[in-house]
Amino acid sequence: MSEGQARLLEGGPIADELRGAVAEDVVRFRATRGRAPGLRVLIVGRDAPSTVYLERILRGCAKVGIDAGFVELEGLATEARVAAAVRELGDDPAVDGIIVQLPLPPTIRLRAVVDAIDPAKDIDGIHPMNAGLLRLGYDGFLPATAHAAVEILRRSGIAIEGRDAVVVGRSAVVGMPAAFLLVKEDATVTVCHSRTVDLADHVRRADIVVVAAGHPGLVTGAMLKPGAVVVDVGINVVDGHIVGDVDFASAVEVASAITPVPGGVGPLTNALLLTHLMRAAERREPSARSAAASPPSPASPAGRPVASGGDR
Ligand code: NAP
Repeated sequence: MSEGQARLLEGGPIADELRGAVAEDVVRFRATRGRAPGLRVLIVGRDAPSTVYLERILRGCAKVGIDAGFVELEGLATEARVAAAVRELGDDPAVDGIIVQLPLPPTIRLRAVVDAIDPAKDIDGIHPMNAGLLRLGYDGFLPATAHAAVEILRRSGIAIEGRDAVVVGRSAVVGMPAAFLLVKEDATVTVCHSRTVDLADHVRRADIVVVAAGHPGLVTGAMLKPGAVVVDVGINVVDGHIVGDVDFASAVEVASAITPVPGGVGPLTNALLLTHLMRAAERREPSARSAAASPPSPASPAGRPVASGGDR
């Protein structure tokens, strides 16, 4: 790829393909089980961003025939009340997947709520059991954003094996799971964070750079190795516009491929959540055919492709 001609890695077309396949799966599921797969989003104290997120999820589910809804608790709900609501969803046979909208109000400990999620319905991979399965290389539910960050590389035909990757950000839901997935794909991975002494020095050595820091413009073209592949996970609002964590204008001149923001990782994240939901539904209620074909345990060693949690 010549300079200034970075290929755009767009999530939209891949997401459309995934949603088309999910729609077919939903038709089959309804025909054999007599019900639609069910998703519930738990929201504690609604604000503008959570409303936008919720509407996007519900719209996406409606398009493919998933029975999606939400449970809303007021922002003053106690931790016990929130955990109880999560457990009720776990006990509801019509619910196959649960998403807890984050962040929770500061009065509620994330761990108390996360522990209440049934791991078999944890389609955004936040329960410690699913995090542990990923760490050990087994097949659990992946956090959808981290899954999307690696899946966009795989589905765009970007070689990962043997390449040096830098992940900027070490959060439990994005940075670390993305790093584990890249290791599983046989990349050599460095994880950078706010205490990293010379971020540019690490980034400059990377063939693949995944940025999930929540800082607009943190990674610039001047920091990149020429020809690097850049996955920008960041979502920030600057002057009313959504931008990533990478300074796109300078990075696009140096990279060989880069995800745009918006339009890169974001759309794929939402579509992957639907594939995770289908996987949860199929596992909870296998058809006679799939039950005979696969073992019931969710913890079978993962072969390739790595991107489980709904990989198709
Ligand atoms: P987070 O929990 O705030 O974690 C941010 C991470 O970045 C932390 O590990 C932090 O280091 C590191 N960091 C912060 N400043 C840094 C700096 N100057 N240099 C190097 N590392 C730095 O955020 P998150 O939930 O992982 O989200 C990350 C970004 O992804 C945000 O922009 C968020 O909006 C976006 N996001 C996108 C999607 C999507 O679908 N595309 C979904 C979720 C989140 P420490 O650990 O040392 O604090």
